[in-house]
Order: sequence, then structure tokens, then C-alpha cells
Amino acid sequence: MASESQPCQPHFVLIPLMAQGHLLPAVDIAKLLAQRNVIVTIVTTPLNAARFSNIINRSIHAGLLINVIQIKFPATQVGLPDGCESADAVPSLDLFKNFFTAITDISSKFQIPRILFDGTNCFSLLCLHNLYKSKIHETASKSESLAIPGLSDQFEFRRSQLPGLFNPGSNRDLNKLREEIKAAEAGAYGIIVNSFEELETEFLKGYRSATGRKVWCVGPVSLCNKENLDMAQRGNSKSSTDVNQYLKWLNSWPPNSVIYACLGSLSNLRPPQLIELGLGLEATNRPFIWVIRGMSAEMAKWLEEDRFEERVKSRGLLIRGWAPQVLILSHPSIGAFLTHCGWNSTLEGICAGVPMITWPLFAEQFFNEKLVVQVLKIGVPVGAEVVVHFGEEEKFGVQVKEEKIKEALEKVMNEDKKEPRRNEARKLAEMAKKAVEEGGSSYNNITLLIEDIIQQQLSKREKVTMLET
Ligand code: UDP
Repeated sequence: MASESQPCQPHFVLIPLMAQGHLLPAVDIAKLLAQRNVIVTIVTTPLNAARFSNIINRSIHAGLLINVIQIKFPATQVGLPDGCESADAVPSLDLFKNFFTAITDISSKFQIPRILFDGTNCFSLLCLHNLYKSKIHETASKSESLAIPGLSDQFEFRRSQLPGLFNPGSNRDLNKLREEIKAAEAGAYGIIVNSFEELETEFLKGYRSATGRKVWCVGPVSLCNKENLDMAQRGNSKSSTDVNQYLKWLNSWPPNSVIYACLGSLSNLRPPQLIELGLGLEATNRPFIWVIRGMSAEMAKWLEEDRFEERVKSRGLLIRGWAPQVLILSHPSIGAFLTHCGWNSTLEGICAGVPMITWPLFAEQFFNEKLVVQVLKIGVPVGAEVVVHFGEEEKFGVQVKEEKIKEALEKVMNEDKKEPRRNEARKLAEMAKKAVEEGGSSYNNITLLIEDIIQQQLSKREKVTMLET
């Protein structure tokens, strides 16, 4: 969102959705904008601010004009536990609606251009848009396959693989909210996309012409974290002892040999499914890092009783909770990334130039899988069939078995000459780096965005002057 300050020095106010998948790229965007001599203010709550304070303080020290405004989040007023200020801290699905109720829409009140950032890519945006317009999902059964209309290639999904708006889970309150979000999006001045034009030229063009919307592809934004310290402290940072231990471990392996498995900041797969993943990793006999978020008592018990860590101790590193993902992915020993296809993670994998094993879970992640596998040809699906609705994981049981996981991992690690995924991934990583360099497409799009906002300010001032004279 942009507001007025001095003439020709726009002021962007960023209000990131309170979830790591939105907060992290928003902080990167704040840095990128501030590096281009605009003033940036990030408005968030204390808990979220703490997640990026180290990184932003360093940027402020280096002379960037970034302010952070912390506001108290009314958690207890809307029935949430105290301190519940981010999607990853919401204790149950029922409380998700309360969480979103506490987030308000204020920009229209101030008549300033409201720019959308929803954290996804042009391919997903276009699929969502075309589905929403055509409504073809409405008459399809859950298991029926549908091709997204209006695209030059055939992209097929079962209805059960579509995001919640088209394939709702059992929480009906969330569906109403999704509709409200969709309506709010319609009034936005334009959209910032964390992607780069060369990655999805056709879909960017398609999205622009389908919506008539201003689109600025400014990514991959995570590439603005160039120093190890910035990469290590992105999100919930780990202690420097832990980080050094991970780096030492990674240094002990040859290039492209380690599998990195992480299913994002929100996924809540139940122990029986996680165990299949652990066994699949073990069965490859290859070195791996496995990030286990939200370690439950049941999971901890299995790890201990099954002596999993002991069995794999010569080649497996378990990270409990938060991993410094961008730092890990940037290490040369990483050979493949098993991902849930959250767009940030997917794009971080692209920047690292590693092929991927795709395991979409919810939201638009099946679209992202299609982009990785069918369009970019740098991934192998693990075989996920349906959206595991957030908060309803128990109901879905084990969706993907150990054998399937091992098979997909092996397919990616044993590069096939006919399907040179690793090679393609490297080429994309090079393209990504060029896009954010001075003169690259994303760099230029930031210039265009800022110029556009300056133009907006000037014409608004002209109008005011005319009314006054
Ligand atoms: N992430 C991380 N460490 C973790 C888990 C996640 O650094 O242990 C970061 C990851 O690098 C990405 C973000 O959190 O930037 C997750 O966003 P994504 O869109 O991939 O998925 P979500 O968590 O929103 O499902």
C-alpha cells in the first residue's frame, strides 16, 4: 500500500498477513523497496515484529528508511489465546475464523492505492481467476478431473485438489471469509507478485489480459538475503550454535547429495503420515535433512522407540521446529528438495537450482506442483491426490506411503538424461538471479511500480490544487 510523504518520495505501508508465508516475503519486499529510496513502514504485531527485528534492524543501520509500527493484536478479544498472533500459532481450525476477524481493512478509508500481495505466482492466479469466472467446478464431483479453461495447455486437476474456495473443507465459516477476501481483492489498484517474468511469461500475460489488472513481478524476493546471517535469521531464527552445526554437517557431504525435506510453516500432518515420510527418507540410503514442525508427543515417542535417529545417525539430520531454509537450500551439498509446494518454498528451491519432489497439501499448492512438474519440468510428484484441509489432517489418514516417497526421491536423485531436471533447475536459478540484478526484469518492475505510485501522487496533488484554486 502506498501513501503520501514528500513529493516524489513515496511511502509504502506494508501490512503483511500474519503468517510466515506472507510475513517473510513482505519483509524482503520492504528491504527491496527501501533500497530504491522510498520510505517503508511495516505494520504488524509484537510477536511478528520479533520474527524479523534482527534483519530489519541491520537494514535500518545500513541506512534504509524502514519503520516498524507494532500494534497490539486483539487476540483475547476475539476468543484466541493470548499471544496467538500468527497463523502457525492458531490452536485449532475452529479458531481460524476468529483470527481473520481480527484483521481489518483500513486502506479505503485513507484513499490511497491499495496494492495486493497474496504470495502466489501468475500461474496460480490465472488458474484461480479462470475457475472463479467459469465456475466449472460447481457441477463436478470431488473425484472428477477438470481442465482449467482459458489456458493454452491442458492442466487437469481433480476437484478434491483445488483450493478451499472451490473445494471447501468442513469449516463453512471459512468459506464465507474466502468470498469476502475475494471481494476485497477486486478493488485493489494492482498486485505485486513474488515471481519473475521469464519464469512464467505466458501466464503473466494471460493474467494481465484476463483481469486488466496492473501486475508487478518483483521476485524472487528471498534473493535479497545475500549474507549468511540474513538467511539464517529469516523467520523464527535458530541459535547460531544450531546454524553452525547444520553448516558443518552440510559441509561434510559432496555436492548435490543431500535431500532436504520440509513441509512449510503451517502443515500439520499427523504422525502416521510423517512416519511414512521418515521411512521413505531412510529407505533411500542417502543423506537427508528432515524438518519436523510442531513435534507431537506421539511423534517424539515414535522417534525414540523406533530408534529412528540412531538408525540414520550417520547420514540423517533432524531439525525440530524451524529450519533456516534459505540458508540450507543455498548450500552446494543440497541435491533435491522435498516440498509441500508453498510458493515461497517452491521459489526458494528454484533459486537454489535444485530439482524438487512435490507434495502439495492445501491452498493453491496443487497448482504450484503443476507449474513445477508440467511447465518447468524440474520436479517429480510424490503422488498426493487430495487437498488435506488445514486442521482436518486426522481425517485424511495416510495419503502417501513410504514406497511412493522413496520412488519419487530416487527418480529425482538419479538424474535421467531424457529428463534433465537438475540441469533445467540450474538454468532457472541463473535466470532468477539475473531478474533481480540491476537491469533485470524484477529490478525494472520495482522501478515501474515506484514510478507509477509517484505518478498517482502527482495527479492526486494536481486534483487537490485544482479544487483549491
Ligand atoms: N520456512 C523456514 N523454515 C521452516 C519452515 C518454513 O524458513 O522450517 C520458510 C520458508 O523458507 C518459506 C516460508 O517459511 O519462506 C514458508 O512459506 P511457503 O509459502 O513455502 O509455505 P507456508 O508455510 O505458507 O505453507
